[in-house]
Amino acid sequence: MKMKQFGVIGLGRFGSSLARELTNNGFEVLGVDRDEEAVSEMSEVLTHAIVADSTDEETLRSIGIRNFDCVIVAIGDDIQASIMTAILLKDLGVEMVVAKALSVLHGKVLERLGVDRIIYPERDMGIRVAHQLVNPNLLDYIELSKDYTIAEISAPKCLNGKTLEELNPRAKYGCSVVAINKKDGVIIAPTATDVINERDVMVIIGTNKQIESFEEELV
Ligand code: ADP
Repeated sequence: MKMKQFGVIGLGRFGSSLARELTNNGFEVLGVDRDEEAVSEMSEVLTHAIVADSTDEETLRSIGIRNFDCVIVAIGDDIQASIMTAILLKDLGVEMVVAKALSVLHGKVLERLGVDRIIYPERDMGIRVAHQLVNPNLLDYIELSKDYTIAEISAPKCLNGKTLEELNPRAKYGCSVVAINKKDGVIIAPTATDVINERDVMVIIGTNKQIESFEEELV
């Protein structure tokens, strides 16, 4: 099912950036914050932005929050408000509740309340930035599981003009190049004769160790 209507509760730094991005992607977004200033800053950007306290059940009911496809609790500092909002949203029958957690314990409580997805923005961004600092060619990555990762690696100069056969990452490092994003288009499932040029983005799948050893060769 494609999601269409989002509710974002808490228009602080995280919530406002999330709400803005969802709107830019063409979705309908209702922003809620108890702070008038936070709401007025976003009122031009979002489909709707209202001043309300999300810990008040009647308020949530009256704005028809249960009809939203996904509601994100972007309240961080006020843990009590975050927890109360999350429980009310689940009780009111919101299908998909996503909440930001500031600590592992906060996340555990949200999990117990039945929150569908918990995000740790500060922790995750810290990990991401550390990976990118250690591996300058690493553009982005997704952890598929504890061991397996998909990484986007920018091809450095030393790979310019090499074919995948010459590079041979599967035999040398155990990881596979599943796509190459070039200036003029993406090659999905590239073959041995496909050539890599500097700054092409290689999408690689493998264990963390395999990807790390591949990256080490590129530095
Ligand atoms: P960030 O670190 O992303 O800026 P904050 O926790 O500082 O996150 O900000 C969260 C926002 O949530 C603030 O704008 C605050 O006014 C709002 N907020 C906190 N509690 C409630 C509540 N009960 N109802 C609505 N908005 C709330």
